[in-house]
Amino acid sequence: MEFGKRIQTPKAGSSANIGFENDVQHKTIIIGNGLSGRETAKAILKQKNNTAVTVIESKNFYESDIATPFALRKPELYEKNFSAPEHQLRIVGVEYITAKVVSVSPVDKASYIISLSSGEDILADAVVVCTSFSHPLTKAAVGSTWEERKAEMETYRKSVAAADTVMVVGGGTVGCEVAGTFRSMIKQGSKIVHVVSGDLLLSDKFSERERKMLTDKVKSFPEVELVTGDRLEGHPVASATKATYKLKSGREIVADVMIPSFAKFQTDFLPAEVKTKSGAVKVNSSLMSTEWKNVFAVGCSDLNEHCAIPKIANQATTVGKNVALVSNNKAEKLVKHTTGAPFLKAEYAVMYGDWGMMLNDEIGCLGALCFACGFPFPCCLAPCTPWCGVCGLNCTRPAGKNVPAFFEAMFSKGPFGPVLGKANKSAPAPPSMER
Ligand SMILES: Cc1cc2nc3c(=O)[nH]c(=O)nc-3n(C[C@H](O)[C@H](O)[C@H](O)COP(=O)(O)OP(=O)(O)OC[C@H]3O[C@@H](n4cnc5c(N)ncnc54)[C@H](O)[C@@H]3O)c2cc1C
Repeated sequence: MEFGKRIQTPKAGSSANIGFENDVQHKTIIIGNGLSGRETAKAILKQKNNTAVTVIESKNFYESDIATPFALRKPELYEKNFSAPEHQLRIVGVEYITAKVVSVSPVDKASYIISLSSGEDILADAVVVCTSFSHPLTKAAVGSTWEERKAEMETYRKSVAAADTVMVVGGGTVGCEVAGTFRSMIKQGSKIVHVVSGDLLLSDKFSERERKMLTDKVKSFPEVELVTGDRLEGHPVASATKATYKLKSGREIVADVMIPSFAKFQTDFLPAEVKTKSGAVKVNSSLMSTEWKNVFAVGCSDLNEHCAIPKIANQATTVGKNVALVSNNKAEKLVKHTTGAPFLKAEYAVMYGDWGMMLNDEIGCLGALCFACGFPFPCCLAPCTPWCGVCGLNCTRPAGKNVPAFFEAMFSKGPFGPVLGKANKSAPAPPSMER
């Protein structure tokens, strides 16, 4: 490898053609092309930078993970609205590599070797880790293909529909959404066993009142058995095949489908010294690694912010500015990160399948909901005014079906979110860059 050139050196026999203009002095690698990676790439390009930007992504498709529970119920929408081949979402000016990163190691004080599963190495001056967390079923596995992902969802769809018992373990927001989604997919007479370690659903990021409201509601669903104060023994993985599971209390549950709803940061390719025990990248106030210069993290750092879109988008803005500064040799001017949407301490809506509630306690004041719909103030000019409240983003506590109805309308009507709306369906597939 020619370190001085700051370019990737493909292995002999590789068909890859990853070159950079001779005058580009600096090279930034973004690992992961979900919301975090994509927003970061855009944020770097927005700045006056002096860096080439390469995104390395393990999958050959883009998926809007927030919509996957919904897509389990509405398979036709998965391909249409919630996912797309990766090349249809490429940003002009960014280079893309389809590969899994297996390690990142420092070369000198500010250069890194990024090793790919193919055995190839790439040299970078700045690295942004955007690999998020893993979660069974609602997030695609690292390195999976679009076809494998669609097949995985279909397998679970069929197994849940045929199941007598479906078990979901974990009472976080995603666990609730998954258990609630399955609730609307099971056949009559079947049941959901939802196991949580505490007495209440959700974490202590949410107010006691909100947690109790949701827990009481779920207890009233006849087809759901909410098991509180218990845990699953061992570390079973998600399964769509009948098996017996043992809880800490000694109770055994036979389930046809089981989802352990636990998230884990996907940073196995980093050494222990740069991350916390849970795998979050340790960062300073500029979102740069506390251990490695010019290595940043978006959506997977130890910053005390929950993993939500407005927070991630703001982290990407901070990192975009800082990468640009580093590439212009102005590292002493790095900007400090300020949290995005400061009123959001936790999520502002929680779904239990086709039932959901707005978390007004969490938001603190009703006015904080302003702009949540995307329409500028004053509300009286909004075209939706005649149907006020239908969306769930109104000034009441709409604990009921209107919150999921709002999301359902949003998901069903068109491409969801800022990203999939931009998919260029007619973009030609690039020559294979796979490694
Ligand atoms: C079910 C669900 C519901 C949610 N609901 C909401 C919500 O209502 N509101 C909200 O604000 N947020 C919500 N979130 C959270 C938020 O939307 C997501 O966490 C966010 O989309 C994550 O984006 P990301 O880019 O960080 O992660 P991802 O989209 O997972 O992207 C990470 C990428 O990194 C790649 N990668 C990982 N490891 C490697 C490797 N070694 N080499 C190469 N590539 C790698 C992966 O393949 C993946 O594509 C929800 C999340 C889930 C799962």
